[in-house]
Amino acid sequence: MKEALVWGIFSKIDGEKRVAARIGSIIIDVYAVAKEGLFDEINFDIEVFRKDYLNDFIALGKPITNRVRQKIENLSNFEGIPTFSEDDINLHLPIKIGDYTDFYSSEQHAYNVGVMFRDPDNALLPNWKHLPVGYHGRASSIFPSGVNFHRPKGQINASDTTLPTFSPTKRLDIELEMATIIGKKTEIGDSVNVNEAEDYIFGFAIFNDWSARDIQRWEYVPLGPFLAKNFFSSLAHWIVPIEVLEPFKVETEEQLPEVLPYLKQRERQNFDVTLEVWLMPHGSSEAYIISSSNFKNMYWTAAQQIAHHTVNGCNLNVGDVMASGTISGKTPDSYGSLLELSWGGKTPIQLPNGETRSFLEDGDTVILKGYAEKDDFKVDFGEVRTTVLSSK
Ligand code: CA
Repeated sequence: MKEALVWGIFSKIDGEKRVAARIGSIIIDVYAVAKEGLFDEINFDIEVFRKDYLNDFIALGKPITNRVRQKIENLSNFEGIPTFSEDDINLHLPIKIGDYTDFYSSEQHAYNVGVMFRDPDNALLPNWKHLPVGYHGRASSIFPSGVNFHRPKGQINASDTTLPTFSPTKRLDIELEMATIIGKKTEIGDSVNVNEAEDYIFGFAIFNDWSARDIQRWEYVPLGPFLAKNFFSSLAHWIVPIEVLEPFKVETEEQLPEVLPYLKQRERQNFDVTLEVWLMPHGSSEAYIISSSNFKNMYWTAAQQIAHHTVNGCNLNVGDVMASGTISGKTPDSYGSLLELSWGGKTPIQLPNGETRSFLEDGDTVILKGYAEKDDFKVDFGEVRTTVLSSK
């Protein structure tokens, strides 16, 4: 089985952060390889591999980053090259995130939430099929896999007829998402053509958009998500370059009603990547799979999201993150949030150890995983593993 190369940032005991390339379970110190001259015929400063984040490497542009990737992939063996396993090293947040936008682009998820939060007969709001709905999130509270957070507090239990109370959230949830990592900047005032938008994508990484449903329900009108979302988000250690996903491109369903010309993509394709949610209940050492979805369950592609994001002239920077929105499939075992899996708490999830969950309890660990496999070629996105700590 041939495995794809993915990018991250690692450090050894001395603490110096460097660029890591992972192929399967083998992690390569790219700076060390560069010092040996592997990239001498490519003209760039190898100090980009001795940085805290991937941004400077990514900013070199695809003609260079892809050649670097191919040079490493073409090594016949790793003899004499410093390699590690994940147990030997520390992994870090791979990019310095400038701006973070979260979309809402899986139709089944938007439909499910619309049914629960509003009206089953008008689950999708009138704009939903005309533009990729999104909001600007907060970059400062995005942390990598392995970093845990405390259950957030806020205003809950309020409605038209009841006053809010202040309490730790009782409806702490996950959102299974894919983050698009922007690899090329635009100038203010410029718009990205939808058919060229993939040139602006360096790659993808698994993302958990933690959500407090009771806080969300009260605060979201009329300006959208705020404190129900910005307390914490989790990003994988590994970024998968978009180019290695070429074999996994699949046709998507036709968009009806027809979208406006600036959103009309010549070849609208999604990526066939399996995405799983695993839950390890507190006090247990065993994790159970509670959902299996797929990145291809997107009504709006990442390219359409970028075209829409920039159509008004809003500029992009290297290291910006655009999250897909919760990715839910059509069947209940493929929903990407506990809100949907437990249908608002009405049908709690049954775990194999006899426990049930509607929302998360303190000490629960959630693990998101992603992978794609075809014709003896595998792409491993790694995982996003996070434990919920009790309120501070
Ligand atoms: Ca989200």
